[in-house]
Amino acid sequence: MKCIYCNKEKEERLFNTEHVLPRMLGTFRENLTIKGHVCKNCNSVIFSSLESRFKEDSEEGIFWQMYNLNDSYQVRIRGEFTKMFFIAGLGDDFFNDIFPFFEYKDGEHCIKFVDQIKIKNYCKDGYLILLIDNSKKIRGSSKFRKLIQNLEGTRSEDVSIFVGMQNNKDRLKLDEAISLLRELGIDYKEKQGKFTGSEGIEGKEVKISVNQNIGTYVARFLAKISFNYFSYCAIQSDMGHILFNDNFIPIKDYILGKKDLPTKEVLISIQQEPIIYDEKTVKRRAVGHTVTFYRFNGEILSQISFLGKKIYTIKLGKMPEELNKDNFGCGHFFNPFNYQFSGMSKNPNKWNNGVQEGFGLFKLY
Ligand SMILES: [Zn+2]
Repeated sequence: MKCIYCNKEKEERLFNTEHVLPRMLGTFRENLTIKGHVCKNCNSVIFSSLESRFKEDSEEGIFWQMYNLNDSYQVRIRGEFTKMFFIAGLGDDFFNDIFPFFEYKDGEHCIKFVDQIKIKNYCKDGYLILLIDNSKKIRGSSKFRKLIQNLEGTRSEDVSIFVGMQNNKDRLKLDEAISLLRELGIDYKEKQGKFTGSEGIEGKEVKISVNQNIGTYVARFLAKISFNYFSYCAIQSDMGHILFNDNFIPIKDYILGKKDLPTKEVLISIQQEPIIYDEKTVKRRAVGHTVTFYRFNGEILSQISFLGKKIYTIKLGKMPEELNKDNFGCGHFFNPFNYQFSGMSKNPNKWNNGVQEGFGLFKLY
């Protein structure tokens, strides 16, 4: 058995299951996996750290955390390459520090406020949001003990508490949050408090602005998902051997961090225009993930996008002669809100005719 990333031959027990789209980006009715082709070292050691960088330090990763579909007790923001600013519209800058969450309800994506503790000592410019109700649920668990360790040395002045209150005399949730902090080893001293009535929250729009640079970790993560999808399609076409073609050595070495290419050589463009048919009709991005690959000027390019945000074009490598056919290419759209995915086609005759596009190297046209 040979790993498609590090090209090393290893025993079977040193391989595990690689998800084409990491589970942190949703689970689907049928989860696409590559079994026995990615070694444990590449998967668990190298890719896991890329994944957490993406989650904590990219626009898409942070938006994904705002949906909190897996009901986590915490949100982690590194603040190294991606800065996000919120204007809560509650009349006082004090409330702009609240981390807003999204909820997908009746086909709409709405903002919701969740009782939370914000702690500003994560990484250099980052912070941690503890969702109070979910953090209480993990009391006594190993996760809770680990959290205590991680929070060791946290100063009271780095901590803010935001909770829903009936009126400005109602301290119930606030006192509960303070005692939770005490259990976590933080002696919280209240400095200033502000209250806004519910009339302040109803009907207000939260403004979100993002200032993002793509760091190498995030670019490597994007390249990895593109190459995973391409690999899955190659394996489905019974052409797994192509993954060991020399043309893919540079992209694999880049993903593994063995080779430092300028980001622009891999991530060749970032754009906003819609790429799938339904989006072109309604003129807005579908909130889901898109992954494609196709041939262009003798290269294999891949376009990927998460939650309907930016479209990243990634160069996977020079086209191996064996694949150089007119119908080369494949693309899928993944909807993390209804757990479905569907194939995409550039052939207008195939649009909306109900025929499902499968996975393979030769489909798109
Ligand atoms: Zn490997």
